[in-house]
Amino acid sequence: MAGKRGLIMGVANDKSIGWAIAKHCADAGADIAMTYQGDALKKRVEPLAASVGSDMVLPCDVTDEASMDALFQTIKEKWGKLDFLLHAVGFSDKNELRGRYVDNTTAGNFAQSMVISAYSFTDAVRRAEPLMTDGGSCVTLTYYGAEKVMPHYNVMGAVKAALEASVKYLAMDCGPNGVRVNALSAGPMKTLAASGIGDFRYIMKWNELNSPLRRNVTQDDVGRSGLFLLSDLSSGVTGENLHVDAGYHVVGMKAEDAPDI
Ligand code: NAD
Repeated sequence: MAGKRGLIMGVANDKSIGWAIAKHCADAGADIAMTYQGDALKKRVEPLAASVGSDMVLPCDVTDEASMDALFQTIKEKWGKLDFLLHAVGFSDKNELRGRYVDNTTAGNFAQSMVISAYSFTDAVRRAEPLMTDGGSCVTLTYYGAEKVMPHYNVMGAVKAALEASVKYLAMDCGPNGVRVNALSAGPMKTLAASGIGDFRYIMKWNELNSPLRRNVTQDDVGRSGLFLLSDLSSGVTGENLHVDAGYHVVGMKAEDAPDI
């Protein structure tokens, strides 16, 4: 990744999936810029950026057009070009990540979650593509709850399904300009965003006991696969949804050796 410059959107702390991938890209030689949402997160993100030699720590709220304009204007002025983009942004009101989806989903949160967690990737790719003058790679984070029903994932399942469909349309649009667009479908990991999902510990335990690798994924697992998708190692891959979930997505039923939980 030496000589490559990448924008990482969505780091909250050292548990963030965005950070795991940013670190692997920086360790592989890339220059990194990272965004934070709100001043409270700024003081968490700045030391992380400094630890990989970056002083490009920029504010960004994806719901605020002026903030998105300013972010990409700064990248253009400071770097002139971009080689990769990681979108690790997601949000839903946690009160709607529990109970029955049919009863517990409001129009307001449905729309807001869709804008923050799905549309913002399309918006970011639209802004990044013209800066990717030597081609580029854009990656977003998704979850298996888009494909199959997972307990309490509810509105985020619908939102991630929209995100995954967006990846395919973006890949088709940007491909002629040498810009690849992919999703990384991570297994459950303990992060700030995940702490809002009802019974998340049960989901993690179930995945650990029933995935082919009989474990949950680590920050390193996700970091390495993120590096693969963002680098030239995946030069022929676009429109893909890469599951980094210890193989859980191939499982049809409970493992015979899994104890009850
Ligand atoms: P996280 O809380 O560390 O990261 C989520 C990020 O989204 C935070 O940095 C937050 O500031 C940012 N964000 C939320 N609203 C925003 C807004 N309006 N503008 C700008 N940024 C905003 O949690 P994470 O688990 O690392 O989440 C990163 C991505 O990975 C999300 O898309 C999440 O859905 C996805 N994901 C997580 C898991 C998991 O189990 N943790 C599994 C699969 C996919």
